[in-house]
Amino acid sequence: MNLTRDLEMGFKTAKPMDEASPFTFLDLRAQFRGIRDEVEAAIRLVMESQHFILGPEVESLEDEIAEFVGCRFAIACASGSDALLLALMALGIGPGDEVVTTPFTFVATAGSIARLGARPVFADIDSATFNLNASALAAAITSRTRAILPVHLFGLPAEMDPILEIAELHKLAVIEDAAQAIGAKYRGRTVGSMGTMGCLSFFPSKNLGGAGDGGMITTDDPVLADRLKVLRVHGSRKKYCYELLGMNSRLDALQAAILRVKLRHLSEWTAARQRNAQRYRSLFEQCGLLSDVVLPSAPAELEHVYNQFVVHVPNREQIRNTLQESGIPTEIYYPSPLHLQPAFAGLGYRVGDFPEAERTCQEVLALPIYPELTEEQQKAVVTSIARSIEHAH
Ligand SMILES: *Cc1c(COP(=O)(O)O)cnc(C)c1O
Repeated sequence: MNLTRDLEMGFKTAKPMDEASPFTFLDLRAQFRGIRDEVEAAIRLVMESQHFILGPEVESLEDEIAEFVGCRFAIACASGSDALLLALMALGIGPGDEVVTTPFTFVATAGSIARLGARPVFADIDSATFNLNASALAAAITSRTRAILPVHLFGLPAEMDPILEIAELHKLAVIEDAAQAIGAKYRGRTVGSMGTMGCLSFFPSKNLGGAGDGGMITTDDPVLADRLKVLRVHGSRKKYCYELLGMNSRLDALQAAILRVKLRHLSEWTAARQRNAQRYRSLFEQCGLLSDVVLPSAPAELEHVYNQFVVHVPNREQIRNTLQESGIPTEIYYPSPLHLQPAFAGLGYRVGDFPEAERTCQEVLALPIYPELTEEQQKAVVTSIARSIEHAH
């Protein structure tokens, strides 16, 4: 009998569920152990209903996310990438338009802009926060700019007050890419509720991850909400009548049912990520590493939700190898900024255009931060980094 189950993450080959987990970068099987009964019951109900696309489970999730984010409407779709695409489509963005965003992000942020024939215009980041630098952003606005697309990278909110001020001044829409930051707060406001629209991803490795792809757009604007609902079903409101050029991007009921179970646990998981971040801070300090390792910035008025715990280190390759030899997994988010990727070569950017983003790509190292991570594992991470740095000195 084969008890092996695969949660399809691709991070590790599946092992029987009851075997102790090896040290993985993200351990979703540990999370599943705690919610298996609830998830299986939710899946069973959907199977009994045989209602698979949109429908009551999806509507309930939309209501719950709208309430969680603190905005009037939430519209579910097939992925976070589609959420960005649909948000831009709802604004009618296309050829001739420019959208200003960051070059230090996941490809979908700028890809969604380019996919619609519009031009992604990059502005440099602040290497301490990894987010858009507001003065660089202001300098990138032209007469063709239609929107600003800030990313709340790794779970830390972007500098929304200056961004919203710039948008107001130039009459621009703001689309928040909150794919990595569900529940994060900027001066008391939840991400996804501050801009014209907010985009969430339910990719399995995000803080609220489904058993596959999924996404959501949040907004307070009833006209945009209505248009998004039409756009995600082929531009159709009435059967076989197509008022807009839309797409097929809907959320499955099975995903919604699983996400509703997981949403009930999100606050406790976020608190565990924050506790782990705090623990890393104490451990790095105790080991006297704060002059070598730059920890993530976490200003008091911002609530970081730590989808990733990304540090700046010297001699990254050496540290990464030492960690790997001790069986400690790390990742690099992101090895190259988007303006230097082949897919965006047509935009004409060059090495040196965004020095902060470029330097950051050379220095960053993401350490495991998932909620179930133990203190023992964190100590192993920090002592291994200490050993590698001592060696180098
Ligand atoms: C994950 C992610 C997306 C895309 O979400 P998918 O659900 O994977 O399509 C977009 N932007 C950022 C910053 C992300 O991290």
